[in-house]
Amino acid sequence: MTNKIALITGGSRGLGKNTALAMAKQGIDVVLTYQSKQAAAQAVVDEITALGRKAVALQLDVAQVKTFAAFSAQLKQALQTQWQATQFDYLVNNAGTGIHAPFAETTEQMFDDMVNIHLKSTFFLTQTLLPVLRDGGRIVNISSGLARFSLPGYSAYAAMKGGIEVLTRYMAKELGARQIAVNTVAPGAIETDFGQGLVRDNKEVNAYIASQTALGRVGVADDIGPMIASLLSENNRWVNAQRIEASGGMLI
Ligand code: NDP
Repeated sequence: MTNKIALITGGSRGLGKNTALAMAKQGIDVVLTYQSKQAAAQAVVDEITALGRKAVALQLDVAQVKTFAAFSAQLKQALQTQWQATQFDYLVNNAGTGIHAPFAETTEQMFDDMVNIHLKSTFFLTQTLLPVLRDGGRIVNISSGLARFSLPGYSAYAAMKGGIEVLTRYMAKELGARQIAVNTVAPGAIETDFGQGLVRDNKEVNAYIASQTALGRVGVADDIGPMIASLLSENNRWVNAQRIEASGGMLI
């Protein structure tokens, strides 16, 4: 029997990397993507291999919808070569960067970047990969706590994440016929490289977030990857079209 295979975008660092490792620990093989940090992606592949699972890293810029067909072809080839498989089981739409700018100063270019990186990519990458995703497979779209609560400077970014949450429900509605469940995971503020590491490296920001979080600290990647892996396990197979926030109770 072929092992289950997950495709995780942005698996070279941060939450994607943590999810890839958590999935591997759960016995799942991984295809991860990176944008530019090939060495970091290869290091994750090596870690997964050391855990006794198979992994492959593929380059993908999620902002370039025109490249998705070629990426799909590359993915099919990797599935064939590494697994003798034609399809994969779990898609985690995770890759992305943020911008921090007041609403009044957000340019059209910044807005378009956020559309392309977050909303358009989740829409069209998933659409492109539908034939390669197994019936009965699962999709997790990564949103943000910022789609529920509002902090100054995140209007464009958070609006895209809000769009992803609506899109999740529509995907679930239409893909249910193929027994594909689709959910949103919305992390709170997590200490990663995201936003130039602001949450991790800026003591004041870190302390503010901890003070606004019921569990009294800022999130770390280990709070998210295992949660996504468990959502994708058989135990959670009936969870569908939901937004699940993992924020330690931030701004409640
Ligand atoms: P990191 O900056 O740590 O990692 C970003 C990852 O995405 C890297 O693997 C990077 O690849 C990849 N990536 C970035 N831009 C692109 C692009 N245009 N095309 C393809 N890949 C890209 O971020 P996080 O792990 O923190 O964030 C992951 C997701 O979680 C994002 O969607 C983010 O919006 C969301 N999120 C993060 C929160 C946080 O506080 N950290 C909170 C809520 C949501 P490479 O290594 O090659 O650069």
